[in-house]
Amino acid sequence: MESLLFKGPWLPGIGIADVGVKGGKIVSVGKVLREEEYQRVIPGEGSALIPGLVNCHGHAAMTLFRGLADDLPLKTWLEKKIWPLEAKLTAQSVYWGSMLAMAEMIRGGTTTFADMYFFEEETARAALETGMRGVLSRGIVAGPGLERALAESRQLARDWQGAEGRITIQLGPHALYTCPPEVLNRVIDLAAELDLAVQIHLAETKGEVDECLALYGKSPAAVLDEAGLFHLPILAAHCVHLSPEDIEIVARRGVGVSHNPASNLKLGSGIAPVPSLLERGVAVGLGTDGAASNNNLDMFTEMRLAALIHKGVHRDPTLIPAHQALEMATVLGAKALSLEEVGAIREGMAADLVLVDLRGPHLAPSPSPEAAIAYAAHASDVTLVMVAGRILLEGGRLTTIDEERVIFEARRCLKKIAG
Ligand SMILES: [Zn+2]
Repeated sequence: MESLLFKGPWLPGIGIADVGVKGGKIVSVGKVLREEEYQRVIPGEGSALIPGLVNCHGHAAMTLFRGLADDLPLKTWLEKKIWPLEAKLTAQSVYWGSMLAMAEMIRGGTTTFADMYFFEEETARAALETGMRGVLSRGIVAGPGLERALAESRQLARDWQGAEGRITIQLGPHALYTCPPEVLNRVIDLAAELDLAVQIHLAETKGEVDECLALYGKSPAAVLDEAGLFHLPILAAHCVHLSPEDIEIVARRGVGVSHNPASNLKLGSGIAPVPSLLERGVAVGLGTDGAASNNNLDMFTEMRLAALIHKGVHRDPTLIPAHQALEMATVLGAKALSLEEVGAIREGMAADLVLVDLRGPHLAPSPSPEAAIAYAAHASDVTLVMVAGRILLEGGRLTTIDEERVIFEARRCLKKIAG
């Protein structure tokens, strides 16, 4: 594998420094590294080198449904639009939808993505081909498909866990309202047996919480905790409607949270109590959710929204400063997903790195690169993306994806599904 040196970019929390990469890992971070020790030197002046962005929550293949079901509340959106379409998905359509998602994510500086969907082995295959890092789960819901979903989760772990050091398999019980405690018990047993972490949707809408209170007399977070789910390493997506007691539970159990501001705003779900969660030390990462509820997979937009909306809601401009938004998109996201090898630029970490050009007119003169990145940068300012030392985007070109073909095939799949 190529060894290379990033010469003189700005690094978050460090400032101007050189970064050396060998064997897929960051081997050196320093003031001036010796160029002759590397096969290639990439000039970093005028750019920021940031840890690859970690998209903590999504459903990659839902790119197929982008723009197909907009301006609807979650319940109607799911029951009337999304679930009938998903019933027609095939392995092939999930593969091409996933490829489309990865083309978009790599272009926007995302190097790691979490995913919960059907035919998840196709998303794993796509991740292996594109070079991205995937944290993948087969969605599990109660009902006639339950046994199959559990069996496929087991198979997914057997076939894909640790593939090329880039694929992590987790379990994906969809949510409490689709997985009652008896199903969660099955998930807990399987997670213990296979040593897997879990991802789940939690408290996304007020309706979900109200129904849960009526059914169990407790909040969804309290029910999940009592079921024992929070004793596993777990990421809870959304967490929009948490009571102060719920926040205590989440903090005490070390639950990771994916904050998905664009999806929560678009579906009118509300705004998660992120400042309170962060204050209690919860690892809050950022996620795009699926492209049907966003409608893009742009982590720069999520950073900007996360940095803005809580200031507005609380009328407090000191909340979620730029550097914290960037941390949420990187190191906190990695922590929320129980990943140890990514999320920071340090010796020994995987070389998942993104170069962001700060010289554009919307970013210059940029005395504060953090602010440029969190408030003003676009996905299109990303000039180089690397995962485990392999370059996936450079010079405006994706190195592992035939973009034209992917867009063509995705269109064809959508036509077959939606007519
Ligand atoms: Zn979701």
